[in-house]
Formats: sequence, structure tokens, C-alpha cells
Amino acid sequence: MSLSAHFSCLDDFDPDALSVDQARAFILGQLTPLHARERLALRSALGRVLAVDVIAPFNVPAHDNSAMDGYALRHADLSASGETRLRVVGTALAGKAFAGPIAAGECVRIMTGALPPAGTDTVVIQEVVGVDGESIVVPPGQRPGQNIRLAGEDLAAGQPALAAGRLIRPAELGLMASLGCAEVSVYRRLRVAFFSTGDELCSIGTALADGEVYDSNRYTLFGMLRRMGCEVLDMGVVRDDPASLEAAFRDAAAAADVVITSGGVSVGEADFVKALMAQLGEVLFWKIAMKPGRPMAFGRIGDGGETGGGAWLFGLPGNPVAVMAAFYQFVRDALHALMGADPLPVVPLLAATSTAAMKKAPGRTEFQRGILSQVDGQWSVLPAGAQGSGILRSMSDANCFIVLEHHRGPVAVGDTVRVQLFDGLV
Ligand code: AMP
Ligand code: MG
Repeated sequence: MSLSAHFSCLDDFDPDALSVDQARAFILGQLTPLHARERLALRSALGRVLAVDVIAPFNVPAHDNSAMDGYALRHADLSASGETRLRVVGTALAGKAFAGPIAAGECVRIMTGALPPAGTDTVVIQEVVGVDGESIVVPPGQRPGQNIRLAGEDLAAGQPALAAGRLIRPAELGLMASLGCAEVSVYRRLRVAFFSTGDELCSIGTALADGEVYDSNRYTLFGMLRRMGCEVLDMGVVRDDPASLEAAFRDAAAAADVVITSGGVSVGEADFVKALMAQLGEVLFWKIAMKPGRPMAFGRIGDGGETGGGAWLFGLPGNPVAVMAAFYQFVRDALHALMGADPLPVVPLLAATSTAAMKKAPGRTEFQRGILSQVDGQWSVLPAGAQGSGILRSMSDANCFIVLEHHRGPVAVGDTVRVQLFDGLV
């Protein structure tokens, strides 16, 4: 089904008043992961997405081993009510087992990771044991099997250790290394082409003429895309003229999986871009009930490309803060879906107390730039200066978005609001 047919079947989808959640759900509903994958040396897979399940080839841990430094002994030797004296007959080190079995009344000094010698079934930590020459004195109250990690306790041989779709972070690198994986099959990098539109834009390195502004959107987009591990194709500034725009769209769609543009989708400009888009593919123009980031285009352009339907297009608004807000609220999750990654948990939403009053009308979601901090052990947030959608300074000073939900009215000092942190932990 065509995008617009699909769109128009959905109840209460109005392109002139789309909620943030509706737009997000519609976009994600269209996308399926790219197929192409590649095998990489383990370290190079950091930040990529697993394309196949990783199956544990053996038990982890492979053998029973001690979880602590202490003494390995036979639980049956211990007195239930009083102290027990045992003779220390040797040492078991990690990677260097104690050879012989042990007899009744004997024990072995054991280090973390060492195999418990044949006959032993319990480890008592060194801190509770009294040492007396060649003997130790063990207090009562030891549990059979304590402080021994069992073979296969972490992962059983043949079980999936990681499922396809997992984003590979440091923990995944370590886990795969623990299974002996030297190479891993991952989805290839997503190719994203982007360009800015506007006759007033000047690229850095050139002196500004009257009425011109430097193009900053290509730099925020570059940063956001690189952070996500995308291969980026910067196509520069394109003039607001149909022939140049048509050529840019065609080139971008031929070279990339996704095309991101900024500017040219606001009222007036959109009419002309719309006509062009109608020839090149299928693009929906939306007015999203959000601030900043209201006008936005989403669709497919060109032909070829792995999805068979060309490259996906995100036509973002021109205002620098709107570009970033729309990217984080829509494009980021969409790119993750195309990269084959499992849906990420929604960026952490933390409750915080507002230390400022904020104007807000019900009927749209607002993303104010905020500064979150702890005051007297409580999370508090205040807006990061002037909130105009062209003022990048507020993005730079901020560490979070203050998310003022669709139905919410004005915020008073002391009200609880929700924030999305800019930085995740991993
Ligand atoms: P537009 O959406 O094209 O109407 O642009 C809205 C506002 O954003 C205008 O003030 C533009 O000058 C500004 N703008 C558009 N593109 C960029 C860009 N790439 N870098 C900086 N400002 C931009
Ligand atoms: Mg423009």
C-alpha cells in the first residue's frame, strides 16, 4: 500500500495536527531493517547491531570454580554446632588446580576462579577462618555449596547469549570475548546523506554576505549521525531552486539509505518542494503538534536502494533547534530501526521539580531546553535561557529536554515535570 493510502486509513491522523506519538508510531510502522550485513573483528563491532544470535559454544563458566579467596573443604567434615579444625594440604590457584583429591579432615587454600579439588563442595572465606600453623579453625554455620560458582551458571552451552538486534556496547564486547568470538556478524552501517536548503545559507570558510547566515544544521546533523555510528554523506547547501533541489534529491537517494534535509518545509516553501517530491517519490507533509519542530516531511524518494523503494526521506524544519528536536524525537528511533536494532527503551524520562514557571498551551508537546541538577538531594530543572527555535545556545547550555506533554497547561514553580537526559550512561 502507498504511504498516503496507509496514512489515510488510520483513524484521527490529520496531517495538519499530528501528535508527536502518532507521528513516531506511523514512521516506525513503515520501516524494516536493512538486510546487508558484514563480519567484523570483535573490536570493530562496537556501536554496531548484531545480525545473528550469538550462541554459547560451551558452558559459562566452563567449570565449577571458587567465587572467593578462602578454603575449599568437605561440608560433611564440619561440626554443626562448634568450631572445626582442618589440616591445610595444599593450594588451588586460578589456572593452576590442586592435583590430588583430599581426605576427611583436610582442606585446601583456594583463590577466586580456581577449581575446587575433587571431594570438596564448599568454600569458606578467608576472613572468618582462624589460621593455626598448618591447620585452620572454621566457625559453625557454613552452608553446603557456598561460594562456588557452578559450570553453566551464567550461560548454558547451546543457549543464545545475545539475540540479533542487540546494539553492541562495551558489555556485549566483553560477553562475546568471554565466549571466544573473534568475529561477529553485524548489519552494515546505515548510509545517510544530508543537505541544507536555503538561499540565505553560507558554508563556513566563506565570508558572510549581507543577509546570509552560516549553515549550522549540517554540523549538528553530522554530529548526531556520527554519534549513532552512521556513514555520513554531507551534500552541502542547495539553493531554493527546483533544478538544483531535484538533482540533489536524486543524487542523495541514489547514494544513501536515508536522506535528511533541513529547511524548505514551512508554509510557502513547502508548496514548491511538495510539487517536486510528487515527481520523485512519495512524501507526506505534516504539521506536528510540537514546539519546536512543527513542519516536517517523511517519505520515500528515488528508486533502487536496498528497501526496493528508494531512500527514506526526513525533511526537517530549518530552525537549528527544531532540527535537533525533530532528530531526537523521530529520526533517531527510525535510524535505529533501519539499523536492525531492537527498539530502544524510551530515552530516560526522569521526574524533576521545576524551579521556574513555564508558559504552555494544551494541544501540543513542547521540548524546552533545560538544565537539570540536584538541589538538596532532589532533581530540579530550569529552562536553559531563551527558548527560540533558532537559538542553538540553549541546546548547548542544556543537559536535557523538559518534555511538556500534549495535554498539559502552564507550569508553576514547584510542579513536577519530566525530562529527557541528553546523555545516556552507555
Ligand atoms: P526554513 O524552514 O527554511 O523556513 O528556515 C527557518 C529558519 O531557519 C530561517 O531563519 C533560516 O535562515 C534558518 N535556517 C534554515 N536552514 C538553516 C541552516 N542550515 N543553518 C542555520 N539556519 C538555518
Ligand atoms: Mg528556507
